[in-house]
Amino acid sequence: MTMYKEFHRRSIDKRDEFWAEQAGLIDWNKPAEQICDFSNPPFVKWFKGGETNLCFNAVDRHAAQRPNDRALVYISTETDEEKVYTFAELQREVERMAAIYQDLGVRKGDRVLIYMPMIAEAAFAMLACARIGAIHSVVFGGFAAGSLATRIDDAKPVLMVSSDAGMRNGKPVPYKHLVDEACKLAEFPPQKVLIVDRGLDKGFPKVAGRDIDYAELRARHMDAKVPVTWLESSEPSYILYTSGTTGKPKGVQRDTGGYAVALAASMKHIFTGDAGETMFSTSDIGWVVGHSYIIYGPLLAGMATVMYEGTPLRPDAGIWWQIVEKYKVTVMFSAPTAVRVLKKQDPAFLKKYDLSSLKHLFLAGEPLDETTHKWIMDELGIPVIDNYWQTETGWPMLSAIRGIEKTPIKYGSPSFPVYGYDLRIFREDGTECGPDEKGIVGVVPPLPPGCLSTVWGQDDRFVSTYFTLFKDPVIFSSSDWGIKDADGYHTILGRMDDVINVAGHRLGTREIEEAIQAHAAIAEVAVVGVADQLKGQMPMAFAVVKDASRVDSAEKRIELEKEVMKTVDNLLGAIARPARVHFISGLPKTRSGKMLRRSIQALAEGRDAGDLTTIDDPSTLEQIRSALAS
Ligand code: ATP
Ligand code: MG
Repeated sequence: MTMYKEFHRRSIDKRDEFWAEQAGLIDWNKPAEQICDFSNPPFVKWFKGGETNLCFNAVDRHAAQRPNDRALVYISTETDEEKVYTFAELQREVERMAAIYQDLGVRKGDRVLIYMPMIAEAAFAMLACARIGAIHSVVFGGFAAGSLATRIDDAKPVLMVSSDAGMRNGKPVPYKHLVDEACKLAEFPPQKVLIVDRGLDKGFPKVAGRDIDYAELRARHMDAKVPVTWLESSEPSYILYTSGTTGKPKGVQRDTGGYAVALAASMKHIFTGDAGETMFSTSDIGWVVGHSYIIYGPLLAGMATVMYEGTPLRPDAGIWWQIVEKYKVTVMFSAPTAVRVLKKQDPAFLKKYDLSSLKHLFLAGEPLDETTHKWIMDELGIPVIDNYWQTETGWPMLSAIRGIEKTPIKYGSPSFPVYGYDLRIFREDGTECGPDEKGIVGVVPPLPPGCLSTVWGQDDRFVSTYFTLFKDPVIFSSSDWGIKDADGYHTILGRMDDVINVAGHRLGTREIEEAIQAHAAIAEVAVVGVADQLKGQMPMAFAVVKDASRVDSAEKRIELEKEVMKTVDNLLGAIARPARVHFISGLPKTRSGKMLRRSIQALAEGRDAGDLTTIDDPSTLEQIRSALAS
């Protein structure tokens, strides 16, 4: 048996022994009495009776051992700031923030809603919550007032932490204005709002008695010492709402001990990051990747983490690689969508900097097509690791486990089930699929440490949303559609509700997209199923070409459309051929890079595009509308 297989098998067969060992990667105030309490399925309590603290493990223990090592590197290409905090400095800032919280009456178990741009104070704000046992709920800065208000009413925070403004592409983006608007809309607005004033929005409104200036309070707490509050392992650390790509967002509740252990173990086995090294995740603190792999994961491992405010293209497409060179980044984490953006730029930017420190690039969040996977691996000359997971799980479910075995990479596949996950592919009747048979990705419970412990305030919703796909067996349903080949490599084919049913044949949007992407002229593509009277559904494609001159006349468009259809015929068969291939210059995506398939499909079926609060570029929808009308 290979080393990976052995490691995975032990994590399932000798579950408690395996996780007891991993628990040694973090410091405990009191060791666990029981490793896994699964007496009330599907709920699970990891490291029951154990006492620990996320902030202590992420900050204090390193501040004690290596106070002058880098902990947080804040870089903004929007405001041209760059600031490095050592572990000792980070600890002081977090204690100051924690003292401010205590001043404002925040107690253990209270919720603090953080609505902030990518600035160092956002990290202090999160870690300070963890320090005193307050529960943070970070809401992505791109969300508009209405979405923010819904999350306020669900979490009922006693305090909100925000900023006057963020910056994007050189333009200020208001935050405080939206906070005020959301507080008006909300039924349960917080009593206090703490504002980090960056001086970007000079005239932002202040509400007397409610709004508090961070700099003023910080000045009063320069020497603050705030001891950590030890938490029982199952006590919540945070709430994070899912992206809401497919429906009403759910408040994913995370525990404390299980999460700390899961992240520390993932840093070692999956991300192979060591203390003293630097990790650069290009995500945002508003997303799960930001929680796990900008803030907690790297710091737990004693690594420095890069917090980057800016786009991958400003001042030029070399900015990420410049950061890698300057801070000798060893572990980098990004999303396929960002790589596709870079792919459209001059490849010289990838050769301009010394990237020899970089061990791996990890990509997650959306399917990574074979073409893009191969391209970025060739360009960088290092393994690029596709990993699959969800807000719900908090850390990878499918990945290569490079810290255990350097298994060969298959383009377009996030490889194997991660240790701790008894992950399988199921038929719709609950039986298990064979090799190369499409099915639903499920996990046999208990879910491993670090995954959601419940939906905030809605235990019944936790059970009904995730565990009721089959009566027997009871599994955690990912709602994704996938396939496993004879060598055990997995591929995610798309969301369950993205499956297209053409005359009784079930096709994943991903498969068709992958086939279209195989045509050399195509940079990016979205495929959706459109209702069809005869066939039930028909695939329809919206493609972005690498070189606009390929589609600058009606004749050329028709020509390329034919070629693309032929490519699909050859690779998948005529059954998968899209009814139409429309050429547009950009696809509608959320600001985290997720394709807004639901909206594309709605437009293609002549319906309203739906909730678009996090759309990155609304003009893409206009393009789709006019393409459909043509
Ligand atoms: P919601 O559940 O609220 O609709 P969401 O599912 O978009 O939102 P996330 O938890 O951020 O919110 O995204 C997880 C989903 O992203 C996965 O379920 C899967 O569909 C997709 N995904 C993540 N990583 C990969 C990957 N490596 N390959 C393919 N798909 C991926
Ligand atoms: Mg989801």
